[in-house]
Amino acid sequence: MKTKDNKINLKDLQMDELKTFLKSIDEPVFRGKQIFHWLYGGGAEGRPGGVHSFDEMTNLPKTLRQKLTETADTGLLTPIKVQISKVDGTRKYLFGLKDGNAIESVFMKYKYGNSICVSSQAGCRMGCKFCASGMDGLRRNLTAGEMIEQLLAAERDTGEKINHVVVMGTGEPFDNYENLAGFIRLLHEPLGLNLSMRNITVSTCGLVPMIECFAEEFPQVNLAISLHAPNDEIRGEMMPVSKAYPMDVLLEACRAYTKKTSRRITFEYTLVKGVNDGASHGEELAQRLKGMLCHVNLIPLNQVEETGLFTTEKKAAEAFRQILEKRGIPATIRRELGDDIDGACGQLRLGVINGGQEL
Ligand code: SAH
Repeated sequence: MKTKDNKINLKDLQMDELKTFLKSIDEPVFRGKQIFHWLYGGGAEGRPGGVHSFDEMTNLPKTLRQKLTETADTGLLTPIKVQISKVDGTRKYLFGLKDGNAIESVFMKYKYGNSICVSSQAGCRMGCKFCASGMDGLRRNLTAGEMIEQLLAAERDTGEKINHVVVMGTGEPFDNYENLAGFIRLLHEPLGLNLSMRNITVSTCGLVPMIECFAEEFPQVNLAISLHAPNDEIRGEMMPVSKAYPMDVLLEACRAYTKKTSRRITFEYTLVKGVNDGASHGEELAQRLKGMLCHVNLIPLNQVEETGLFTTEKKAAEAFRQILEKRGIPATIRRELGDDIDGACGQLRLGVINGGQEL
């Protein structure tokens, strides 16, 4: 995407596109490799988060740096606000975009390394009843560069490398498929971040046609499906998307996905008190998922004030988990990080800064 001053965001470009761009400004294509190195922090031993001023790219000739300054941009995102959890070191970032929208991302530390939860859209149009992210609808899709900058900005802020990415922030990634695909390719680019496909997880509310594309294009990336209900009746109440893609159709697409990729699917199931957390719901869910290569991730609802919905208590969540396990469906209860800073699932919201005016 070009900025207001008509500059091209280099972080929206794949390596081959960067080379084409260099040709267009009469520069040799081998410079692409050097630029990638700077933009993405130069591999494991390099500088977390990369550099953002062309003048810092010291192995580029001055003339090229000048041309880049005139025509291009590094898509820098700087946090307007950083909230740090006192409990677990989770960091929630609020970033302002050039057009006045604001997005959030969450940095998390785990035993196995650092992880970032990335937003894929400013807002969301899926309208799930229990989620804060879609309450004000969709503002716009994020570009691949805006997604990758969320990771890089967190690396710059923490001074640490990030090796896991979950696309579980604001937005429905499969409603922004092309940019999501560009983002994944950028993460995996050997001359850039060189992240393993297996360290990336994409979560969808179940846009069936995109599940098929995804299996074809990214068979190594982990797929999580927000299921949240054992049948269409309850799912329909919680998630409008289920009217377009009923559970039978969705689960059939999941079976086809596993057949094609041999990968285990994670089903996310947000437990909402008195809505989907009864023993009969657990039994029905186990029945529906029987024989599938899957895992259920139970998420006790993070309460969002406006929804009037309540969370399932620990004991009841554990009972639900056991119903699934007894029926042969592996299930875990998700440990929530960042709850004290509203950084947990479904609590990320669309922000608008500066009254939505361009900065
Ligand atoms: N749109 C995608 C990506 C969002 S991922 C999707 O639906 O999968 C965020 C996960 O948190 C989803 O499983 C979502 O359903 C879940 N979630 C949303 N609101 C929540 C809440 N208030 N409490 C717990 N989980 C929630």
